Amino acid sequence: MQEARLWRQLKENTVQCRLCNHYCSVRPDERGKCGVRENHGGVLYSLVADRIAATNVDPIEKKPLYHFQPGSHSFSIGTVGCNFFCIFCQNDSLSQSPKSGGPIPGEQVSPQQLVQAAQHYGCKNISYTYNEPTMFFELMLDCAELAKEQGLANVMVSNGFMTPECLDELEPWIDAINVDFKAFSERFYSELCGSRLEPVLENMKRIKRMGWWLEATTLLIPGQNDSEEELRDMAAFIRDELSQDTPWHLSRFHPCYQMTQTPTTPVSTLEMAHAIGKQAGLDYVYLGNVPGRKEGNTYCPNCERTLIQRSGFSAGASQVENGNCCNCGRPIAGVDLG
Ligand code: SF4
Repeated sequence: MQEARLWRQLKENTVQCRLCNHYCSVRPDERGKCGVRENHGGVLYSLVADRIAATNVDPIEKKPLYHFQPGSHSFSIGTVGCNFFCIFCQNDSLSQSPKSGGPIPGEQVSPQQLVQAAQHYGCKNISYTYNEPTMFFELMLDCAELAKEQGLANVMVSNGFMTPECLDELEPWIDAINVDFKAFSERFYSELCGSRLEPVLENMKRIKRMGWWLEATTLLIPGQNDSEEELRDMAAFIRDELSQDTPWHLSRFHPCYQMTQTPTTPVSTLEMAHAIGKQAGLDYVYLGNVPGRKEGNTYCPNCERTLIQRSGFSAGASQVENGNCCNCGRPIAGVDLG
């Protein structure tokens, strides 16, 4: 247990956490909504600043990031806890378990050990993922600083609900992020996730201004966020408020957690969403969780040459040279594409 950062004292030993947009007031001996920040005697502590619950070496494509160091291995770490309550969570054993107030699982680690392990496995970057990385902000920050010193890049896979203060602290250290752009309605965020949309939209714009590499992912859930109108609005937001070269990943839902009665996303819905993204003028629209589709490849938006062919999470040799299409010379957005 380590004293948390980003909180302030209220009255009578109650504290306000300022890490995410819930801005929880936490009374003594209680935890915030995420289940991993606890008030002891008027001081807020992180319960996950020194332990991880999951590590793996993943292809960066699994995050998914398709335009950031493609083909690289990413040392991926996560803890437990989440500030969202998504009823369709695909990782609920990690994200929701601490909310009942029980002990926090995980293996004790130091940032030094994590960076050494990333180097040992030949990774080019470290991904903070599996559960919402804002939850382990303190560990992520220390690890990211050290990783950067050693020449490794840092990647977040996030719901984008952190506070501006949190983003300010992370700004110098994070290189790329995939934000879960879950829907374009406050109803969806409130009823299905126990959260709010507006801060996520604001954060995506802020992240773009900060200069991190940004990709967005939308899990298409039948009947919830897959209407033509909503998808058009999302595509227009990406184009107008972020940039037309921001990659958009459209991912297939499979029944899970508390949403087992909802069917798998039909392929026709994914195809419709892909067409909407392209019609809106987005340069890079991808389909995920549907292996073997050509919409998993990267194409030049000008001459349509296949630039990176993908099979599952594995990426073939890049046909991008010095950041440009090898065929027509058009610049291709991304980082270390070839
Ligand atoms: S991180 Fe968010 S959910 Fe957790 S205590 Fe802080 S404000 Fe509340």
